[in-house]
Amino acid sequence: MASPAAAQAWKLLRDLVLRPPLLAVRSQAVQLTPRRWLNLQEYQSKKLMSDHGVRVQRFFVADTAKEALEAAKKLNAKEFVLKAQILAGGRGKGVFSSGLKGGVHLTKDPQVVGQLAKQMIGYNLATKQTAKEGVKVNKVMVAEALDISRETYLAILMDRSYNGPVLVGSPQGGVDIEEVAASNPELIFKEQIDIMEGIKDSQAQRMAENLGFLGPLKNQAADQIKKLYNLFLKIDATQVEVNPFGETPEGQVVCFDAKINFDDNAEFRQKDIFAMDDKSENEPIENEAAKYDLKYIGLDGNIACFVNGAGLAMATCDIIFLNGGKPANFLDLGGGVKESQVYQAFKLLTADPKVEAILVNIFGGIVNCAIIANGITKACRELELKVPLVVRLEGTNVHEAQNILNNSGLPITSAIDLEDAAKKSVACVAKK
Ligand code: GDP
Ligand code: MN
Repeated sequence: MASPAAAQAWKLLRDLVLRPPLLAVRSQAVQLTPRRWLNLQEYQSKKLMSDHGVRVQRFFVADTAKEALEAAKKLNAKEFVLKAQILAGGRGKGVFSSGLKGGVHLTKDPQVVGQLAKQMIGYNLATKQTAKEGVKVNKVMVAEALDISRETYLAILMDRSYNGPVLVGSPQGGVDIEEVAASNPELIFKEQIDIMEGIKDSQAQRMAENLGFLGPLKNQAADQIKKLYNLFLKIDATQVEVNPFGETPEGQVVCFDAKINFDDNAEFRQKDIFAMDDKSENEPIENEAAKYDLKYIGLDGNIACFVNGAGLAMATCDIIFLNGGKPANFLDLGGGVKESQVYQAFKLLTADPKVEAILVNIFGGIVNCAIIANGITKACRELELKVPLVVRLEGTNVHEAQNILNNSGLPITSAIDLEDAAKKSVACVAKK
């Protein structure tokens, strides 16, 4: 893609809609889902893990520097590891807006835990996986540090190309696994699991061996892998990622980091887990959009985009950039659409003062274009829309939809295809 801004926008969209990044590199088919996947903080994931017999370090969570200091004293450990809790990875190499470098710190002194926590809590932590300005840290984890003699990578994923769960592992852990997948694909090992039969001992053993666990550590690692798999199934996870899945010089296999994503369709039977959803990292407008089953992504351009489906969002993003424009935001309608949602969508899109034009790009498959057209005309009238509106509809009931728009008497520019729509909306903005 052409500009860094375009790449950044596309990455935001990609992160929102793609399956775990490792698979984006490894499998040919890019996998899209129209739903947001619940993410938990590390401390929440580790609590679930320890409840299921998976070995994690002893830890406390703190909201203030004082609590962090007290936590360190209570832990009564030889060494402590202090970790900023944000949903993005790469914290170890991140930088805080306070100037502090590193979202993960080791120290033997409880006082230092307090001092470091002071430079973490309330500040933004920027990592490779966050936007430039980073994410505000509200909590830190204070854990008993353990020596690590070897770092491996382990993940369990629900993978559509295998129609089920897959174990993914690499003896080269701790680091950015996407890089390992790109430079040393032979160091990535996979085990496809039959969801009806469950994980076999031989599979857990083979993975433990591929990860390089030797002697008694091999059985221990295999046991941890089986426990992680059972947890994965029981909690309806789509991903359990442990990086590093490490070993200590004392001969223990420990999950040093934890990232769990959940299948949002399982919310009805995982109420306790979904109640832990930490929305503090969302923009208020994202939470507002979620109330109407809409997905909002803020960007920094001036063309508001109203689309259905993540793939179409990315295509729209690309084509706007290619025509010299910049998206201000995206609102994704998803599948089953109601007229009232269209109205809410317009309200949210136009709430952003940067917006100088709106581009509607809807492909009617399940979505009925006539419902969209009615929603658009209603929204235009009731919100007294002040900015130019370019509409491209295609698919189910498109002719009726076009009649509705044409007969509305509203100043709506219709476009014949996506290219045309992008050109017309970029032209609207250029005129201003
Ligand atoms: P991430 O950077 O967000 O993935 O955070 P991690 O929890 O993976 O921590 C980053 C790195 O810090 C790990 O890869 C380890 O090398 C190191 N680390 C984390 N916890 C400990 C610990 O208890 N002991 C030691 N020695 N290193 C740790
Ligand atoms: Mn990690």
